Amino acid sequence: MYDLIIIGAGPAGLTAALYAGRARLKTMFLEKINPGGQIVLTRTIENFPGFAGGVSTQELISSMRKQVEGLEVEIKIDEAAKIVYTAEVIKIYGSEGEYQTKSLIIASGALPKQLGIEGENRFFGRGVSYCGTCDGPLFKDKEIVVIGGGDRAAEEAIFLSSYAKKVNIVHRRKILRASKILEERVRQNPKINLVLDSIVEWIIGKDKVEGVRIKNLKTGSVTNLSCQGVFIFVGIKPNTAFLNNLLETDETGFIITDQEMKTSKEGIFACGDCRKKSLYQVITACGEGAVAADSVYKYLITKK
Ligand code: NAP
Repeated sequence: MYDLIIIGAGPAGLTAALYAGRARLKTMFLEKINPGGQIVLTRTIENFPGFAGGVSTQELISSMRKQVEGLEVEIKIDEAAKIVYTAEVIKIYGSEGEYQTKSLIIASGALPKQLGIEGENRFFGRGVSYCGTCDGPLFKDKEIVVIGGGDRAAEEAIFLSSYAKKVNIVHRRKILRASKILEERVRQNPKINLVLDSIVEWIIGKDKVEGVRIKNLKTGSVTNLSCQGVFIFVGIKPNTAFLNNLLETDETGFIITDQEMKTSKEGIFACGDCRKKSLYQVITACGEGAVAADSVYKYLITKK
C-alpha cells in the first residue's frame, strides 16, 4: 500500500513526485514507455523562468527526472488502464500489475486534437503530422501547410521554416491566438505566409499528401494549395478516458478541481494539462504539481 501514486511523467507529475519524495511520502510514480508528455513534442521552451535564451525540452525533462531519482520514489513503467475507488483504498490496474494506494495524483496530460477532416487519418504518416520536431526534417525544401493559430502552430511553423521551402499557416480567424512575440516572429519570417479567415476543408492526394482545399470564410471562395506536408495544431484533448467517468470533468474530459487540485473524489487530485484551467503552460503544470503533492500531504495527515 502506497501513500501516493502519481500517474503521468510530464512536468506536472514529475514536480508532484519531487515534492512528495521530499515530504517522505511512500510514493510510486507510474510512467509510460516514452515519458515526458506533450513537452517533448517541441524542441525548446523559451518561457520557462530561469533559462534565458530557452532550454531544450529533452534536457529539462531529463533533469526533472534526475531530481526525482535522487529521492526514494519508486518509478514503475506501466500504463494505468482502470481505477477502482473506495473510501479505504484506491486500486490502479495497469498492464503490468495492480497497485494500491491511499491517495492518487492524476497528471496524465493531453494529446494533440484531431481536426476531423477528410484525408487526415488516411494520410497520417504520409504527409500529415502533429509534431514538427519529429517530422520536420522529412520536409526539407518542401511546401508545408500548418493548421491552427495558437502558440503551437506559431512555434512549429517557425521551426518547420528552417527545413521547408515555404510554410503556409491556415487559420480560421483574422487574429492569431499565439502570444505576440511569436506572432511578430511569424510575420517577420520570409518563408511563412499567413492564410487568414480560412479553413482547410480536406487534404488532397492519392497515396500521400499533394495539397489542401482551402475555403475563405469571409468570401466563400475555394482554392487548392499544393503542398507535401500538413501539420495540424488545433488544441489539445485530455488523456482521461481511462478514468471511465470516475471523476467530474467538463464536456471534453478535462478534470475539474478546486484550487488545491482536489477532484470530485476524496483522495484523488489532478494537475497539469489533463485539468480544466485557463493557462496550459509548462510552468503552470509544475506549479500545480507542487500544490497537488502538498494537498496530498495535508490530506494524509488529517486522515491518520
Ligand atoms: P490552442 O492555443 O488552443 O490553439 C488552437 C488553435 O487551433 C486556435 O487558433 C484555434 O482557433 C484553432 N482551432 C481549433 N479548432 C479548430 C478547428 N476545428 N478548425 C480550425 N482551427 C481550429 O492550442 P495549441 O496552440 O495547440 O496549444 C495547446 C496548448 O499548449 C495551449 O494552451 C498553449 O498555450 C499551450 N502551449 C504551451 C507552451 C509553453 O508552455 N511554452 C508552448 C506551446 C503551447 P481559434 O483561435 O479561432 O480558437
